Amino acid sequence: MTNKRKQIAIIGGGITGLTAAYYLQKNEVDADVTLIEKTDHLGGIIWTERRDGFTIERGPDSFLERKTTAKHLVEDLGLEDKLIRSATGKAFILSQDQLHPMPQGAVMGIPTQLAPFFSSTLFTFKGKLDALKDYTTGKTEVEDDISVGHFFRRRLGDEVVDRLIHPLISGIYAGDIDQLSLKATFPHFLETEKKHGSLIRGLQKSTPKKQTGGQKQGMFLTLEGGLKTLVDGLTDALTCNVRMSTDVSQVEKHDERYLLHINGQEEPLEADYVIATTPHYVTQQLFSEYEFMNELSETKNTSVANVAMAFDEDAVKNLPDGTGFVVSRKEDYRITACTWTFKKWPHTTPEGSVLLRAYVGKPGDEEVLDLSDDEISQLVINDLKKIMTIEDDPKFKLITRLYDAMPQYTVGHLQRLERLEEKVNEQLPGVYLIGNAYRGVGLPDCMDQAIRIVEEIAEK
Ligand SMILES: Cc1cc2nc3c(=O)[nH]c(=O)nc-3n(C[C@H](O)[C@H](O)[C@H](O)COP(=O)(O)OP(=O)(O)OC[C@H]3O[C@@H](n4cnc5c(N)ncnc54)[C@H](O)[C@@H]3O)c2cc1C
Repeated sequence: MTNKRKQIAIIGGGITGLTAAYYLQKNEVDADVTLIEKTDHLGGIIWTERRDGFTIERGPDSFLERKTTAKHLVEDLGLEDKLIRSATGKAFILSQDQLHPMPQGAVMGIPTQLAPFFSSTLFTFKGKLDALKDYTTGKTEVEDDISVGHFFRRRLGDEVVDRLIHPLISGIYAGDIDQLSLKATFPHFLETEKKHGSLIRGLQKSTPKKQTGGQKQGMFLTLEGGLKTLVDGLTDALTCNVRMSTDVSQVEKHDERYLLHINGQEEPLEADYVIATTPHYVTQQLFSEYEFMNELSETKNTSVANVAMAFDEDAVKNLPDGTGFVVSRKEDYRITACTWTFKKWPHTTPEGSVLLRAYVGKPGDEEVLDLSDDEISQLVINDLKKIMTIEDDPKFKLITRLYDAMPQYTVGHLQRLERLEEKVNEQLPGVYLIGNAYRGVGLPDCMDQAIRIVEEIAEK
């Protein structure tokens, strides 16, 4: 007798695959689910290291509370008592060898309060006047898509973009905003402009007073023990078949089903549905016989690295009161940002110590990852010493290289995705492509994509 239950294969055990597996189970979708992960650990890019009393995130460190899916998942797992909110504090911009406080009321760098914007030391007077043209500039003509840079430069001028908006957006996408797609990344700013004829005016109206008047509470959440606690919670909750150290090499369509070929194994795995959450360049290989999958190669990636450094508190001096800084574009620094982790996330650092996390790697400077650990940490320390006093070597340092980890949603991303999805629906029914290369890079965005697919499968 043949087994009539549907077989669902999820390829990739990062947050997208884990979330899909969890909600298939929670929603009692009538199917046998197998989660297949190439490495010997789950969580993908999420990578928490606990060492000498420190909690060090080597990948993402938190999620935005405003995008509610992540918090709901934590609640569903019964982990809400482990949630920890980021501390508030000044964020700085490093420009012209000085740390400038983020102008109060700036929303992704767009001013919403003119007094703090005009008194900011970050911009020249001309740069400030240029930003005011936002009030009078006509609406942006967008046929299909334009770059984020083009949109903001036209409204707010180059200086505000290069000194503030670019580094903030780079903190999310590690990309070049003159290449990034506006429609795929910040469509709501285009909506705001359409509705109010001005970004500043529109955001003044739509931003809650408490936000424009200074952040009262941190916007980011993590869990006690780091994001690994979330991954462990998901792993413990899963009752489906989880196959670790299993490397899918090819997915082949066979009648109405799919055969998943696995490196080093003769027997393929059969499935009715395949949820591919692998990085897009891997997914393209898995389905390499389908030419339309070449759309995926249009999405490039940036490689980044981060350097966590633990010091005795006496070793670091002249650190302004705040949570960290981003570096303006066109500055002579290799680091792109630095978080004063011990201040933003006090639970991560034992008493009497300082934990800093600096970031390197950006379009045009990805070769920094080829340097040795000592070379990377030395260049980070040299950069940091330009703005703070570091009198001793770190107690320890952890350098994490994440190759091709940041997919770039370049202009036309959504159109490419629509073309691709149409072909997949037509020629590979039951195959779903989700994860950070498609509809949002943040952890909650990845979870949203997983939940949407679970709902779609549940309705079949
Ligand atoms: C440095 C950095 C910092 C970030 N910080 C934040 C942050 O603070 N907040 C936030 O919201 N987002 C952050 N992000 C984004 C977020 O972390 C990612 O978008 C998200 O974790 C991606 O999850 P994923 O499951 O889609 O992919 P991945 O985590 O890449 O998971 C894919 C999985 O597929 C597996 N796999 C690959 N090939 C195969 C194969 N052939 N067979 C089987 N399995 C395979 C991989 O081993 C991996 O486990 C950050 C990203 C980076 C790189």
